[in-house]
Amino acid sequence: MPSPRYWREIPSRYRLEATRCGDCGRVSHPPRGVCPACRGTDVQALELSHEGRVVTYTIVHVPPGDFLMEAPYVLAVVETPEGARMMIQVVDCDPASVEIGMPVALEFRLIRKEGKGGILCYGHKAVPAYPRGEEEEAELESREMEVAHA
Ligand SMILES: [Zn+2]
Repeated sequence: MPSPRYWREIPSRYRLEATRCGDCGRVSHPPRGVCPACRGTDVQALELSHEGRVVTYTIVHVPPGDFLMEAPYVLAVVETPEGARMMIQVVDCDPASVEIGMPVALEFRLIRKEGKGGILCYGHKAVPAYPRGEEEEAELESREMEVAHA
């Protein structure tokens, strides 16, 4: 897990910025000056974790023009632990392996090239985040025991 300092030092475009409503708690991504749920204006900036879970997804068979995507690809709604939801492409896996509830990591990647001049656009993509194996869990548990007995 990178330190808070690490996240502060990366440029804002790499971060996942959001806002949280002080009135109803709704988290919005991208950030909004006015809460879309209650129209409250008491909103605070919030940085999202680079992880989440697939809430729902669709497999796209015909991609739009400039996208550097090989069809079919997966477009998912991912929810972060803060409660923000975003539409994001899921990469580095077989589209058939994507399922609701699947944990993903949100990584900064090249998204598309615009026109022949080739303006490169970057943004976030989701990649599968495999849960820890049972062996690793057991090892972590025994380590915690050692600490408890130290
Ligand atoms: Zn609100």
